[in-house]
Amino acid sequence: MDKIYKVKQEVFNLGGQLKGIYLDVPQKCPKCEYNDTLQLKTHVSWEFPQYLCQLSVIFKCCHCKMPTYAIYLISGPKFSPSSHLIDVFPRYKRASDFDSIISEISPRFIEIYNQAYVAEQNNLTELCGMGYRKAFEIFIKDYVLSKENYSDSYAATIRNEQISATIDRLNSDAHPLTKELAKRVIWLCNDQTHYSNYHPDKNITDIKQLINDTLYWLCVSIRSQQYINDIKHK
Ligand SMILES: [Zn+2]
Repeated sequence: MDKIYKVKQEVFNLGGQLKGIYLDVPQKCPKCEYNDTLQLKTHVSWEFPQYLCQLSVIFKCCHCKMPTYAIYLISGPKFSPSSHLIDVFPRYKRASDFDSIISEISPRFIEIYNQAYVAEQNNLTELCGMGYRKAFEIFIKDYVLSKENYSDSYAATIRNEQISATIDRLNSDAHPLTKELAKRVIWLCNDQTHYSNYHPDKNITDIKQLINDTLYWLCVSIRSQQYINDIKHK
């Protein structure tokens, strides 16, 4: 699973003192998308006595030589060593690849997942979890609806029921892990959508990993069945 940012400690002159600050540094260059190529070149800081500092950092990619500009906030008396990433330029627009089985079942899933992925790459971390949940719900419903020729009224029932009820329909034809993982995608995504967080030790990376693992087992089941149907002993 891709990490979008990695924590790196850099030393800055803040308020006349050298301070080691932990930054979320973009893992990939937004321009060329090479990994681990961003190197800190220079920074400018605006300090508000003792309590707040805005730090603007310019990284240079050692592959494509293009700059990336990131803005951080550092707070706390005498500045804490941690920082909060506010924004990154240029914007990320990278899409995530999925098995063709998945894109054939639900093109809408691919569209919404990648909108959430772009939001995450651009540090809209409070929004992307909701986007991943919507994408996953639409995928599960599109998959269940694609399996049989349901009547219009029954298809409407599936479209309108709770996602947990649709996940319960995954019983017979998919790998048993699919259903168990799908439930957990929704549990974690609900924490991103509602006020309370019941799984504070899990994050967006876990949600993406669970979605990928769910789709992996589903693809294995579908592709295996296609091969079993297609290849006969001669
Ligand atoms: Zn680059």
